[in-house]
Amino acid sequence: MTRSEIEPLVRGNIRSLAPYSTARDEYQGKPGVFLDANESPYPTGFNRYPDPRQKALKERISDIKGIPPERVFLGNGSDEAIDLLFRIFCEPGRDNAVAIAPSYGMYSVAAAINGVEMREVQLNDDFSLPGDGLLAACDTNTRLMFICSPNNPTGNAFPRSEILSLAERFPGIMVVDEAYADFSSEGSLSPRLDDYPNLVILQTLSKAWGMAGLRLGMAFADSYIIKVMSMVKYPYNISQAAQEQALKALERPVASEISGIIDQRGKLAEALAGYGFVKKVYPSEANFLLVKTENADALYGYLLSEGIIVRNRSMLKGCEGCLRITVGLPSENKKLLESLDKYEKGAIH
Ligand SMILES: *Cc1c(COP(=O)(O)O)cnc(C)c1O
Repeated sequence: MTRSEIEPLVRGNIRSLAPYSTARDEYQGKPGVFLDANESPYPTGFNRYPDPRQKALKERISDIKGIPPERVFLGNGSDEAIDLLFRIFCEPGRDNAVAIAPSYGMYSVAAAINGVEMREVQLNDDFSLPGDGLLAACDTNTRLMFICSPNNPTGNAFPRSEILSLAERFPGIMVVDEAYADFSSEGSLSPRLDDYPNLVILQTLSKAWGMAGLRLGMAFADSYIIKVMSMVKYPYNISQAAQEQALKALERPVASEISGIIDQRGKLAEALAGYGFVKKVYPSEANFLLVKTENADALYGYLLSEGIIVRNRSMLKGCEGCLRITVGLPSENKKLLESLDKYEKGAIH
């Protein structure tokens, strides 16, 4: 797909939209007497509206990621970016989207909220990508395709070449959710943005960066797509507090935390595989493990009674019998294994 083929995919009402210009669009960052936005003049630390363009934070993220600021969108979590993509590209009641399954639940929730049909294509039994199946699910009204890699909850990353080959063949917007890319040896597709104008990459500060509570998601894409997303978002979608705290937290080195989690992931996977009631621990490129057990509901309830909360994914097609377990601190993982030792000894299952 070429750049010029993206614009016609945008809904007509969005294409003709004149963006709301905020009182604070001019004079950004310069000192002055601000009598333009009906704010309180009394300083509280938060009496002024935040930068609607998030210039400082975007520049910092641009440096870290090696992606120009005009290709960066910041949202109230990745969830905001997901919702915006539906609102920008899908005409309710007419257009549809395609996604892999099992995967992140927000794609179909956002589709349903926006009145957009979601066509889910089951991963192959070994959780590999059903490339032809995904394309076969498309018709002339398919505007978005969602691929999560590493995938939640299966934990595997798909080969970059397979995703890019789909992006080449799909005449719509290819959304690749890389929330867990920091834990994966497969790496990000962001260096390929130049060659794929229909590629939208989602990342987040919620996982490896440890800022889930701040709500900061990122989208990287062609500058035209970023421009439209910025035009449709709420003007002040990232609060002053989030912008300030994120700038601070981005100074914190996270590389050693990430390698610590990867190390713990390996140890935890090995220990879990040793239990009689564990049928399979799936290979993971993320910060969690998908574990197939004999009786997921019973084990889930037992862990809950021990004060250990994991995610029961056993009702998802393709994940029968599975719990999803986040890799925690070494002390937390130890506590989990101690509880599982008791479970195995007691043969409660
Ligand atoms: C956790 C997660 C996110 C992050 O969502 P935020 O709204 O940024 O917190 C995005 N995608 C997937 C697949 C996730 O598992």
